[in-house]
Amino acid sequence: MSSFAIDRARPMLATGLFSAVLFFAAPLHAQQCTVMPAQVKLGETLRITCPAEFPSAKLNERSAQLYLQPDGKRFGLLPISVKDTPGTFSLAISRSGSGAPQTLRVVIRKTIFPSQNVKLAPEIEALHSTPEEMALLTTFRDNISETRSWADPLEAPVSGCMTSPFGVRRLHNGKPTGDYHGGVDQRTPEGEAIRAVAGGTITFAKQFNVLGNAVGIDHGQGLESMYLHMSRLVVAPGATVQRGEILGYAGSTGRSTGPHLHWVLYVNGVNVNPAQWVKLQPCSGAAKKR
Ligand SMILES: [Zn+2]
Repeated sequence: MSSFAIDRARPMLATGLFSAVLFFAAPLHAQQCTVMPAQVKLGETLRITCPAEFPSAKLNERSAQLYLQPDGKRFGLLPISVKDTPGTFSLAISRSGSGAPQTLRVVIRKTIFPSQNVKLAPEIEALHSTPEEMALLTTFRDNISETRSWADPLEAPVSGCMTSPFGVRRLHNGKPTGDYHGGVDQRTPEGEAIRAVAGGTITFAKQFNVLGNAVGIDHGQGLESMYLHMSRLVVAPGATVQRGEILGYAGSTGRSTGPHLHWVLYVNGVNVNPAQWVKLQPCSGAAKKR
């Protein structure tokens, strides 16, 4: 080990003067921001950690607030949408006061999502959201608490395998819907308890035409979750829940073809892939066609 260290020391001496010049030319901020992962797939979430003087980050047209954490650093979530364009981009992290922003390179990788046809009975396909329901969901996505109630790792809301992954391009009775699967479906027997993936505050717990009996939770600092098609709800809006607390019981209400749990994670109002956050086993052979 020591001989290796000596061999390495010679070329480093030669470059030492040059790097010393670079070091003093740059501002003396040893601590810098980091982004994880630096290569991200569509539907994944960037996690940005910075010293306290960096309050926000921006990638293309999407901004994310970085919140002060108990350890004195800032942390924030920036979602990559299924509809974003793959490529190499600059993540600009602004510094408070007159300091220069920091720029980090982010690679959004090409991501292939399968297609899936869902057979719906005519009376189920005819269900549509009301303007009031749409407005409530928009308000939910747009309003997120600044208090962080979530911590890693999140807990899967049910234990069943995944019958439909995130991002699948959806066809209804063979016709493309132009939309993608914005969450994951997990297999559940009717009546199985559905649990909060993290602590938070219940924003809504009510019956919707398409979503069925649904619950939305604000986990704070960018993260929200939503649970659909339940047979019965046992929480009320405004209530505080802990990770793992029962929200209701599995069912097949709304636009659903059988008992299952469809759940959704939002980061700053954008649907993100829950499989990046929670370990989910695909059901064997069920991921592509059903
Ligand atoms: Zn679903």
